[in-house]
Amino acid sequence: MQNKKIIGKKKKIALIAHDGKKAEMMDWCEKNKSILEKHFLFGTGTTAHMIAARTGLYVEGYSSGPLGGDQQIGAKIVEGKIDFIVFFSDPLKAQPHDPDVKALLRIAQVYDIPMASNISSADFMITSPLMDEDYEHHVVDYAAIVKKRAESL
Ligand code: PGA
Repeated sequence: MQNKKIIGKKKKIALIAHDGKKAEMMDWCEKNKSILEKHFLFGTGTTAHMIAARTGLYVEGYSSGPLGGDQQIGAKIVEGKIDFIVFFSDPLKAQPHDPDVKALLRIAQVYDIPMASNISSADFMITSPLMDEDYEHHVVDYAAIVKKRAESL
């Protein structure tokens, strides 16, 4: 069962970078500022703060990642308030909040959210013609599943 939902022309983008990747994220945001400024921007606490300071872009900040920021972003995906993610995670360093990171990746898959995990994927995604269009993504229709389950139990 699929429930067709739209990622609007103006994307609701979450920007997240682990400490070892923050410099890359700052450079990437600076380089893509003219594209990013056409969308709504969100981020985990430190990343959001640093991007705003470096580029002047408005980035709504949640809690810092290790304090639950990734979980907040996951919850916003569920609510339909975030529909695009650029997450430069650090593959060479253990993170105290690794379970939260995994949970975010999983929920992004469940909701068919485009997610870039490194500079090249972010470059391909941000330059896609789909950035300027509505996009119908495919989300499992849990409301229908819940109804069916409730009737059958
Ligand atoms: P930060 O969190 O932006 O607050 O550093 C990012 C993360 O570690 O997930």
